[in-house]
Amino acid sequence: MTKNIYFSLLLSALVTVALAEETRQVDKHEHGVGELNIAIDKNIIDFEFMLPGADIVGFEYEAKSDEDIELVNKALNKFEDYKNIFSIPADGQCNLASLEVKINNEDEHDEHDEHDEHDEHDEHDEHDEHDEHDEHKDEHDEHDKNQVEIHNEFYAKYSFECGSIKLINNVEFSYFMTFPNSGELEVQFISELGSTSFEVEADKPVINIEGKI
Ligand SMILES: [Zn+2]
Repeated sequence: MTKNIYFSLLLSALVTVALAEETRQVDKHEHGVGELNIAIDKNIIDFEFMLPGADIVGFEYEAKSDEDIELVNKALNKFEDYKNIFSIPADGQCNLASLEVKINNEDEHDEHDEHDEHDEHDEHDEHDEHDEHDEHKDEHDEHDKNQVEIHNEFYAKYSFECGSIKLINNVEFSYFMTFPNSGELEVQFISELGSTSFEVEADKPVINIEGKI
């Protein structure tokens, strides 16, 4: 009985996370608020960061000048070594199994979606749609002029395999030191015992997850 309750709690938590991801849009983020999902499945622990570009490099437009491109590349390089972002206790005996780092751009998303549609049509149709696309783009440009800014975010996912996963009792975030423009991190933590959320800021860059795995 108890087990069933745990299971349905876990299931609804998982569904919530999945829905949140699907409906989540880059342009809905709040500057100064990064998001982190930590998920534990048996001996695997995943860390998935979604961080506003403003918090990482101070801007979210597409980097075009040499200076901006260098800033973005330096930031991406920092993410390549997870220790620049966070650390977990050595007792957990965890090894990095996979790593994904990229920039999610809201405009790219739109183009991709339309691209898929194009593939289904013949050349002639594609042409017609292209005109529509241009119109749409004009609307978009005006929209941008009237409204505000373009948004993008840095995405980084780290997956670890651990020998003693239950011995991970905290996670420390060097993120705030590495990226001084950052504000807070909203952390969603989920394991088979349930889910918890944390708000982490630079003055106390650590979460305690003892007994939660
Ligand atoms: Zn933004």
